[in-house]
Amino acid sequence: MGYLQGKKNAMMTIKDRYAVLGQPIKHSKSPRIHQLFAAQTGQLLSYHAREVPVEQFTTVVTAFFTEGGKGLNCTVPLKELAWNYADENTGRAKLSKAVNTLTLREDGVIIGDNTDGCGLVADLTVNHGIKLAGSRILILGAGGASRGIIAPLIEQAPYSLVIANRTIEKAVNLAAEFCDKGSVTGCGFAALAHQQYDLILNATSASLSDQLPPLPEGLIAENGICYDLAYGNQPTPFVRWGLGHGAAKSLDGLGMLVEQAAEAFFIWRGVRPDTQAVIELLNTERDP
Ligand code: NDP
Repeated sequence: MGYLQGKKNAMMTIKDRYAVLGQPIKHSKSPRIHQLFAAQTGQLLSYHAREVPVEQFTTVVTAFFTEGGKGLNCTVPLKELAWNYADENTGRAKLSKAVNTLTLREDGVIIGDNTDGCGLVADLTVNHGIKLAGSRILILGAGGASRGIIAPLIEQAPYSLVIANRTIEKAVNLAAEFCDKGSVTGCGFAALAHQQYDLILNATSASLSDQLPPLPEGLIAENGICYDLAYGNQPTPFVRWGLGHGAAKSLDGLGMLVEQAAEAFFIWRGVRPDTQAVIELLNTERDP
């Protein structure tokens, strides 16, 4: 093989590099999802998962992009750090002050975006046919994931949105940031007693350690729906809680994961993958 042909072949097999960073990260299905998207759309890329503690975030991200990496997803507990790291943030990332997608633009500028909210709304409304307009929504948790989903949920015109968190001050402060956009209030879990909600979203990371936020009885309205942003091969503690407390549906965040990944894939590659096919496949791979 001639030198030029060899060089051309080598260049053709160089894959654009992407990764997801977080801690813990072992459970992540993102590499599988992006590989399925790549195969489905004929894109040549690699995508791996890497465990990164908070204190190593800046070093790891800088090295990744310096060495030619094209894009990163950031998950628990790195989203607020990613928002600070980006050279420029999109409108939805600015609103949420949390970034799950970093992209190296051609001119070397790193753009931060947040695809969690649109991923959640797509899963709720398109995949599950849930109507959000006029509904009473409760979000449990006030971390990076909550920040990302509040504005896209408000855009769906719910009747009210309550944020409840273990550290009450964080819920109250987060609600205050969005209260000019709709009826948004913040409180602790104990203050939820005697209230009912049409949709309860668990955006705490409690499921990751097999725990459940302390929730009062009678929280789920008639035909109410529970949705855990976390996901697993087995039903999460919150999904089980919903099923045991009369929810009409109790869902986990696998569909959201696929939808937010599809939006990131679109940002990076300019192609929209078929999410239904991937969700169906991942559902068949869950433990029986
Ligand atoms: P953060 O670390 O930013 O925030 C964690 C939140 O969970 C805080 O509000 C914290 O409360 C609360 N919390 C943690 N443990 C407990 C507990 N035992 N009881 C009650 N509250 C608790 O995490 P993120 O917001 O980034 O992620 C939250 C969850 O959402 C994770 O499970 C993540 O996997 C999931 N997620 C799923 C996505 C998907 O696509 N399906 C996308 C994004 C997130 P406090 O403030 O008091 O510490």
